[in-house]
Amino acid sequence: MLRLEGTIANHDRVFDGGIEIDTSTGLIVHVGEKTGKSDIDVGSAIIFPGFGDIHIHARDDVSGAQLYKEDFATAGDAALQGGVTHFADMPNNPVAPLDDARYEAKQKLTTKSAVHVTLYAGIGPETDPLQRHVPYKAFMGPSVGDLFFASQEQLEGAIAKYRGCNVSFHCEDPVILQESKGEPTHERRRPARAEITATEFALYLIERYELQGKLCHYSTGDGLKRIAAAKAKGVRVTAEVTPHHLYFDDSMLTDENRLALQMNPPLRGPADRMAMIEGLRSGLLDYIATDHAPHTLEEKASGISGVPLLDTYGAFATWLMKEHSFTPQEISRVCSFQPGKFVKEFLPSGFGEGYGVVAPGYVGSLTILDAGSPWTVKREEMRTKCAWSPFEGVTFPGRVMATVVQGKVYATPFGKVIT
Ligand SMILES: [Zn+2]
Repeated sequence: MLRLEGTIANHDRVFDGGIEIDTSTGLIVHVGEKTGKSDIDVGSAIIFPGFGDIHIHARDDVSGAQLYKEDFATAGDAALQGGVTHFADMPNNPVAPLDDARYEAKQKLTTKSAVHVTLYAGIGPETDPLQRHVPYKAFMGPSVGDLFFASQEQLEGAIAKYRGCNVSFHCEDPVILQESKGEPTHERRRPARAEITATEFALYLIERYELQGKLCHYSTGDGLKRIAAAKAKGVRVTAEVTPHHLYFDDSMLTDENRLALQMNPPLRGPADRMAMIEGLRSGLLDYIATDHAPHTLEEKASGISGVPLLDTYGAFATWLMKEHSFTPQEISRVCSFQPGKFVKEFLPSGFGEGYGVVAPGYVGSLTILDAGSPWTVKREEMRTKCAWSPFEGVTFPGRVMATVVQGKVYATPFGKVIT
C-alpha cells in the first residue's frame, strides 16, 4: 500500500486528504482524511489525478525507421518528467496502424513505455474500421507523413465508413493549403482560414455520421465560435489546444527561432492566442494536448514542422496557474479529467474506473506539482530522445515534484523510482 497526503485537486473540488493506492493492482482503494502517517506528505505541493496527454507522436513502429529521434521508452521517460501518466500516440508512422494486424504489432512496442499508451488508428482514403474498439485520426490535409486527403469529397467517402466511431481531425483544408503554397512565410502558407474551413467540414462530418469527434491542436479564435455553436446544438465534439499555441504567437517569431517554432497548424496572432487561453478556461477547449513531435535539431534546421513538449507538460500547467490565474480545478479538468474521459473506453481490463479523478476505484496515477518552485528549462535535462525543447531558457513558475504511475513513485527530474 502507498499512502500520500496533502492538497488534492479534482476537477470539481480541492480538499486536504489522504490517498491509499494498492500497489499490487495500481488502483486507488481509499480517499479520506489526513492521518499524519503517510509515506509521502507533499507539503505545499498539489496532488492532481495523473495528467494525460492525448496527442503525441512517439515515432516508434515496426519499421524502426524513426527510432533515432524517439521511441516508446524515451517518450515514456519524457512523460514522467512532465508529470504525464498516460498518453495517446498518433498513427502517422512509416508502417501506419491502419488495420488490426498492424495495430496489434504497434501495440506490442508500447510495453517499453513507463506510462500507459493508447494508440490511434489512422484513416486514409482506402481504409476500413478495425475489428477492435480504437480511437481514429484523420489528417485532412498534408502534414508530416503521407496519411491525408486531397479533397473534402475524398475525406467524406472515407468517413462514411466510420459512422459512430471516435474520430480526431487535423483541421487544415488541403485546397487552401495548395492555393497558399507560394506565400512567403510558413504562417501564411497555412492560413487561419484553412483551419476554419476544415473545422466547418469536420463539424458537418461529425454530425452527419454521428461520430464522437475531436478537433486537434486548435489555434484560431474564429474557429472557436463554430465549435461553440456546434456544442450548443448537441454535436458530440471536443477540442485540444497545445502549450505552444497558448504560450507563443507570431509576434514572438525572430530569424533565430522561426524554424524551431515551425509547426502545423502554425503560430497565430496574439488575439488568437488569448482566445485559446480564454477558450480553455471556459471549457470550449477540453484538453491540453501537446502534439509532442520529437524531430531532431538537424531536421528542424531543414524546415520540418513540430516541437517536443512532453518533458514540460506539468511545468507549463504551473505557468497557466501563475500567469493566467487558472485554478487547480481548471488544471485538473483540462490535464486530468477530460483526457481520462477520452481514453476510458479504450483502456484494457485492470484499469478500474480509469484516469482523471482521485477517488476509490480509479487508477492510482498522480501528478504532484510544486507550483512555487521555479524551473528553468535546460536542453541537457530533456528526456525526449530528440534532446531539445522550444521552452529552453524559459523559467516556469513551478515544476513537477513527482509522478506516480499505478502506485509507483517517480521523483523528477530523471524518472528515478523512489519507492
Ligand atoms: Zn499531431
